[in-house]
Amino acid sequence: MNYRHLGKAGIQVSELSLGSWVTFHTQTGVDDAVEMMSAAYDAGVNFFDNAEAYAFGKSEEIMGAALKKLGWRRGSYLVSTKLYWGLHDNPNEKNTLNRKYLLEGITGSLERLDMEYVDLLYCHRADDTTPVEETVRAMHNIIEKGQALYWGTSEWEASQILEAIDIAERHHLHKPIVEQPVYNLFEQHRFAPEYDDVYKKHGYGATTWSPLASGVLTGKYKDGIPEDSRGALEGYEWLQDGLLDEKRQAVVAGLEPIASEMGATLAQFSLAWCLQNPSVSSVLTGASRVEQVRENMKALNYAKKFTPDVMAAIAQVLGDGLPSLTSPD
Ligand code: NDP
Repeated sequence: MNYRHLGKAGIQVSELSLGSWVTFHTQTGVDDAVEMMSAAYDAGVNFFDNAEAYAFGKSEEIMGAALKKLGWRRGSYLVSTKLYWGLHDNPNEKNTLNRKYLLEGITGSLERLDMEYVDLLYCHRADDTTPVEETVRAMHNIIEKGQALYWGTSEWEASQILEAIDIAERHHLHKPIVEQPVYNLFEQHRFAPEYDDVYKKHGYGATTWSPLASGVLTGKYKDGIPEDSRGALEGYEWLQDGLLDEKRQAVVAGLEPIASEMGATLAQFSLAWCLQNPSVSSVLTGASRVEQVRENMKALNYAKKFTPDVMAAIAQVLGDGLPSLTSPD
């Protein structure tokens, strides 16, 4: 495993990391989580991602219970969580980054994770109805209380990130240091030119999500939706259009021979492609079973095989790119 700095921050994260969206609680229990986290950790993964909203808090409980069983030294890994969507249908507790919600939300997450602090706390989306200064101050206070070590953003516009950095700098508050954007062969818009200042000038980190576009970039949805896949889960029907999209399937068909020429599975190829972007600090992988973790970790073997010729062949398959079809959390 290689490790990259989260932008210009001192902390380093493994190039591949493991997240729990959809999987923990919905597809796996504590024992499976132990097995998958263990396989990732053995491969050198030091970063595990979660969110309050994942399985309505149950995902945090499972990760906390798994970490208890695993008994790793706390300094050897990082855990993140995210706040925004909320767990309660109440004006002050959902779709918000107000001070009250953030300060209460982190306490709830730490209780579920059974931890004293998370290493990274993300604002899961931007909130246009709360002044950015209120959010920046609340995140600063959470860090000062020792409940999180660093904070970041997820799916924020470049201008919103720059505003938060500017407010923090002017008031000597802890700055956000990392964005969590979608990034895969289909979805590259969060690294568009307007983000150049964010990543290049301000040295912001990026922990990227859905590197396999929920599994499409493994080729598993070529002939429809397999029964044991995310696409067949109750409550995730909204994903199906993206999973079966014809243009995406055509891209998958075009990428397959390039991956196979490299000797990689399509999953390994698609994960290793994400690492070609120097602004990416860590690629957040997802898995519903340990075999997938083992296969995905081997993506690192292919990271140096993306020659200019391979990149040109990929660009030809992608053409002008595809319309964005991002998932909500
Ligand atoms: P991917 O796009 O990589 O999809 C992962 C899913 O693809 C797995 O759960 C599995 O689903 C399938 N899969 C993975 N590897 C293989 C393989 N080798 N062979 C066959 N199938 C495979 O990532 P996620 O969408 O899960 O996102 C990763 C992480 O990013 C999340 O856990 C979360 O931490 C974060 N995230 C953050 C978001 C944000 O808004 N900040 C939004 C979404 C995710 P199955 O077996 O069910 O088919």
